[in-house]
Amino acid sequence: MRLVLMGPPGSGKGTQGPALAAALGVPYLSSGDLLRREVEQRSELGRQVAEIIDRGDLVPDDLMIAVVAAALGDAGDRGYVLDGFPRTVAQAEALERPASPLPSPELVVHLAVPDATLHERLARRAADEGRADDADPAVIARRLHVYRDETEPLVAHYRAQGSLVTVDGDAEPEEVARRILAAVHATRG
Ligand code: AMP
Repeated sequence: MRLVLMGPPGSGKGTQGPALAAALGVPYLSSGDLLRREVEQRSELGRQVAEIIDRGDLVPDDLMIAVVAAALGDAGDRGYVLDGFPRTVAQAEALERPASPLPSPELVVHLAVPDATLHERLARRAADEGRADDADPAVIARRLHVYRDETEPLVAHYRAQGSLVTVDGDAEPEEVARRILAAVHATRG
């Protein structure tokens, strides 16, 4: 199964992704975690992206595609759960080209969560995990704005392809996990 989890910051992608990937027996990759590791390690890539992440902007598409494809390697052919990638229509279209280094998703799970819940969750995560981009209200606003402008058009993109399922993510993690698995099983028939 090749599955993409999409949703705004705080929608539960990082909470749901690892257990979902384990349940499906495929690798899990969070593009945000991948970039944060590079920043921590002060790699060349980390230096390139640190300021972009701190502002709440998006890393350029070409760079992002190369980084995710390299991280998944050949394992991506056997399936994946991707969290936070693709995040723009250009990234999704790159996966659809014949020369794509990664095959396109079969299923896109869109986690829908009201803004008030997103703000509560991000405030909790800022306290628990110390992510700078969760702690600054201006950066949170920027990330939500970027999500609406750049990422939300993917909903229509994948809906037109018949691969989108929207799951109500405004519930406890166990309940959201049940809803996602039910959606996966429903699409597998
Ligand atoms: P996340 O952990 O998914 O919220 O990602 C944290 C930050 O990493 C984002 O605010 C972006 O700056 C960057 N990022 C993660 N995934 C992508 C992507 N697919 N395209 C561009 N930038 C990304």
